[in-house]
Amino acid sequence: MSQRTAHVGAALCVAIVFSVSLLSCFWERKPDIPRRSHEFPDSPPLLRVCVLEAAEKCEVRCDGPVAVLNGPTVLAKWRRLPKLTVRPAASGLAVGNRQFEAVRIDLEPLGEPLIELNGKQYRGAMRIARRTGGRELDAINLVDVESYLLGVGGCEMSPNWPAAALEAQAIAARSYALRQWKRRRRSHFDLRATQSDQVYGGASRESRKVTNAVEQTRGVVLAYGGLPLMAYYSACCGGHTTGAAVALGERTMDIPPLRGCPCNFCNPAMHVAGTATPDSIYHWRVAVPKAELAAGLRELDYVVDAVTSVRGLERDASGRSAKIEIELKTGGPIVMTSRDFRRMVGFRKVKSTKLTFSSSEDAIEIEGYGWGHGVGLCQWGAKGMADAGHDWMSILQHYYPQAEILRLWKDRPVD
Ligand SMILES: [Zn+2]
Repeated sequence: MSQRTAHVGAALCVAIVFSVSLLSCFWERKPDIPRRSHEFPDSPPLLRVCVLEAAEKCEVRCDGPVAVLNGPTVLAKWRRLPKLTVRPAASGLAVGNRQFEAVRIDLEPLGEPLIELNGKQYRGAMRIARRTGGRELDAINLVDVESYLLGVGGCEMSPNWPAAALEAQAIAARSYALRQWKRRRRSHFDLRATQSDQVYGGASRESRKVTNAVEQTRGVVLAYGGLPLMAYYSACCGGHTTGAAVALGERTMDIPPLRGCPCNFCNPAMHVAGTATPDSIYHWRVAVPKAELAAGLRELDYVVDAVTSVRGLERDASGRSAKIEIELKTGGPIVMTSRDFRRMVGFRKVKSTKLTFSSSEDAIEIEGYGWGHGVGLCQWGAKGMADAGHDWMSILQHYYPQAEILRLWKDRPVD
């Protein structure tokens, strides 16, 4: 063998060994391998959840030691925080009789006992921030996303529902929270603790079944287009979910996972006997007096003598109308978005935009299906799927078609 042939042979051997090791790496990849990119954190991020807005004062309490911080600066330490009132003060904030020269303080428990705000317990720390103008304050819970979810699950879904439905709910809520966390970096909080984001009751609303669902799905999120999915959900779709672009005015959310899909599972016939979607949620009727509609329109500054009839316009595949046309005795019809119509009559009275109308002498009879905006996961449908033996994965694949399912983190951080 010449020296040149020997070199070529050695190079070939190296190349083969390198290729084999590359291939074995590829084959060893698991489907739930964590996604590392700047769009997806690889450990649970700290969320800023606004639990109290524009209040004149609030009460705080903690049975253990608490540090008072302004950014990294420790302003005070207490061995125990008795129930004290926090108010805006001339130069900052007052906690009981103690004044702090800061418009924002973080109350951080240093031991096991949790911080209390207005009688409710919260994990993590509590930030109190004086508003511009100086008369009101906001309270913002600083809490990691997994602990946050423990206090969301039981507020957004019955904690007695089947595990697969609670798990799907936890993943949708985690994905929604992460997307808002990315979206609102420049705001002074990431999420509101109300229906305008996700209802969050803190540690006071935790339960064993919800905790299990959050732990079983730890770190799992829905994603689409390289971002966490804005995984909307609502109580009951009434037979077909709808698109985020029209139903919520979210033009950038016109993507396959949020365009709507058929749903047979919220139909009462699909549930375990005795636990079906109530008629008041799935298929309901309400009569709204014509005089009440006319008064509502006048409050919105329309000139109205009397309402004669109402009909839905621009019906989509789900049967929802984008707009509502109201015929008047005199003058042209009034056209408004279905969301505005619901707001005018009342969200609890007109529970969805999947509506048909008929007219009697004095009233408009409304027949409707479902409760809520109808985008993304249908919660009663998720329960129906879980009752029928589906797991969280098939529930999510059904309601968010083409979304990716990723596990961003799994192991608990070392205490
Ligand atoms: Zn449904």
